[in-house]
Amino acid sequence: VSLVSTGVVIGVDVGGTNVLAGVVTPDGRVVSSVQQQTPHRNKHPRVVEDTIARAVRELSAERPALAVGVGAAGFVDTSGSTVAFSPHLSWRNEPLRAALEARLGVPVTVDNDANTTARAECRFGAGVGHAQVLCITLGTGIGGALVVDAAVFRGAHGMAGEFGHMQVVPGGRVCECGNRGCWEQYVSGNALARAAAATTGLAVVEAARAGEASAVELLAEAGAWLGTGLASLCAAFDPELIVVGGGLSQAGDLLLDPARAALLRNLTGRGYRPEPAVLPAALGVDAGLIGAADLARARLG
Ligand SMILES: [Zn+2]
Repeated sequence: VSLVSTGVVIGVDVGGTNVLAGVVTPDGRVVSSVQQQTPHRNKHPRVVEDTIARAVRELSAERPALAVGVGAAGFVDTSGSTVAFSPHLSWRNEPLRAALEARLGVPVTVDNDANTTARAECRFGAGVGHAQVLCITLGTGIGGALVVDAAVFRGAHGMAGEFGHMQVVPGGRVCECGNRGCWEQYVSGNALARAAAATTGLAVVEAARAGEASAVELLAEAGAWLGTGLASLCAAFDPELIVVGGGLSQAGDLLLDPARAALLRNLTGRGYRPEPAVLPAALGVDAGLIGAADLARARLG
């Protein structure tokens, strides 16, 4: 029996709020998973790495890990070794791959979390069969990935797709990236939590699903901001399909219906062009870790 048939591949999604990790099969299913809180961004980067290593050890207790893929909420360089910058974490030029490989003793692959989400959705989820896909992940902030001709577009330095930091309100709300008026200050989990004076965006989503009118209204407002930004991205990129993932996508149509309406209101050339569908990520909140594991498995060869 070869090691490949006895070991597991583990995907880890490091978001601004939670670290999700899971054992992922070759066909993109999660067979076991763990969730932990992301250490606060004023903590040393080593503390985040401790959290990742703990999750991996837990998941590889019975069968050894062959490879680990990490989707990280940050700007990951083209070679997939360094997280150059993360608005929501303590990483600044952090050599994450080398640090984790030294600890775990297995090959580690690092990519941006929205890129891994897009990979998973295009291979196993809502984007299957589509070549031009815009993927938006709504978590603590907004992550983005543009799939062009069935491959994630990376830009010159691996940092493309950070749509959450497009300025939508000149002089607007201060963003954790240091600028003002970024899109994610009006749509993300952080934005919702602040507007509702709640602990997390997910708490607002839960309240809305339970029928609380003020929470439903906040999601509608966030959805309108989402759709307005998506209309600009359609003007720029003309995607076939828009997939919305990340924790906040659990709001479903409470968020996506207002987003679709705002997208159509603002879509340039409406009536003279196909209107892209806006779909929730079919793999839900696991999409990021599934894509990370799939990338790690692909690199194993
Ligand atoms: Zn920003």
